[in-house]
Amino acid sequence: MSVLDLARPELVALAGYSSARMEASAGRIWLNANESPWAQTAAQARDLNRYPEPQPQALIERLAEVYGVRADQVFVGRGSDEAIDLLTRGFCAAGASNVIISPPTFGMYAVAANIQGAAIVSVPLMAESGFSYPMAEVLQALDEKTRLVYLCRPNNPTGNLISLDEVEQMARATAGRALLVVDEAYIEFAVAPSATGLLDRYEHLVVLRTLSKAHALAAARIGVALAAPSIIGLLRRIVAPYPLPQSCVTAALAALSPLAVARSQENIRRVCEQRERLRTLCATLPTVLSILASEANFLTLRLHNAAAAYAALSAAGIIVRSLARYPGLENALRVTVGTETENFAVVAVLKSLGAQA
Ligand SMILES: *Cc1c(COP(=O)(O)O)cnc(C)c1O
Repeated sequence: MSVLDLARPELVALAGYSSARMEASAGRIWLNANESPWAQTAAQARDLNRYPEPQPQALIERLAEVYGVRADQVFVGRGSDEAIDLLTRGFCAAGASNVIISPPTFGMYAVAANIQGAAIVSVPLMAESGFSYPMAEVLQALDEKTRLVYLCRPNNPTGNLISLDEVEQMARATAGRALLVVDEAYIEFAVAPSATGLLDRYEHLVVLRTLSKAHALAAARIGVALAAPSIIGLLRRIVAPYPLPQSCVTAALAALSPLAVARSQENIRRVCEQRERLRTLCATLPTVLSILASEANFLTLRLHNAAAAYAALSAAGIIVRSLARYPGLENALRVTVGTETENFAVVAVLKSLGAQA
C-alpha cells in the first residue's frame, strides 16, 4: 500500500508540465525559455529577467534544515494556502471524495474543498471542553470517501493546541485510510514540539508550515508542506510551472539566515510576552466575558457585545477579526497581538465600553 493509492489515479500517472527551467540547470548562454536577454532596471538585471527555479534548491535545503527534515520531504509554494489547494486537488475527486474539517477552524480548508467539488464532513471541536479535538467522532465520521483530515495546531481562531500524543494517535488511526494534514501555521508561538518528528513513521502525514506568521514574511507568500517524498512528488507535478517569484525566494532566504532566525526567535518571545500581558489586562475589563486559552499570536475574546466592541475599535482605527460567522464564537473577536502600544490602544477602547457593550 502506498499513500498515493489515495490520490486521484489520473494525477499519479500525470507527467506534469516540463518547464524549460526544469530541463536544464547549468549553462553559460541561456536560450531555452524565450526570456529577454536585456533588463530595463537594476532589479530586473539582478534576478528578474529569467524564469525562477520551480522549487528553488537553496531554499528547499534551508527550509529542511530549519524544520529538521530532509530536502525530499519539502514542498514550497505560494503560502500554505497553495499547499492546501494542491492537496485537495491532488487527492479529492470532484463529486466523489470528502474532507473532514473541525470547525471553528481556518476557512481555507472548506474553500479549497468547495472549489474542487469535494464534500465537507464537519465534526466540530468540543466547545464545552475548551474546543478540544473530537478524535473519536472524527474517526467515526471517516469513511471510504475521505481523503483529507485537517487538524490545526494551534487552532485558528481558538488558539488551543492538541498534544503531539494525540496527533500520533490520529496518525495511527488514519494510516492507510486518509491523509492527516496537520496545519502548524502558529506552532512557533506554542510551547510544544512540531509534528514533523512523526514524518518518518507516517507516510500519510502532511505538516504545513509557513513563513507568514513567525518569520514576518506574509507578503512574500512562502508556505511549506512537509511530507513523504511520494506526496511531495505529486504536489510538485501539479503545481503551476514557476510558482515562486524570484524576489520572494531571495527574501525568504534572507529571512532564514541564522541572524534573521535568531531575530525571529526574539520576536516570537516578545509576542508571547505581549500576549500574556494583553490577556492579563483584558481579563480585568467589564466587557470581556472570557478569553480563550491561546498558544498562538492572537487572543480570542468573548465579549458582552462583540458587534459594539468591533464598531468602537473600528471607529478608533483599530481593525480586529470578527468571529460572528463561526458557530459557538458569535460574540467573540480575534485580536492579533501587536506592539505594546497597539495592544494598549485595544485595551483603552474596550475599557471605555464599560460593561453595557
Ligand atoms: C495564516 C494561516 C495559514 C496561511 O498561511 P500562508 O502560508 O500565508 O498561506 C494557514 N493556516 C492557518 C491556520 C493560518 O491561520
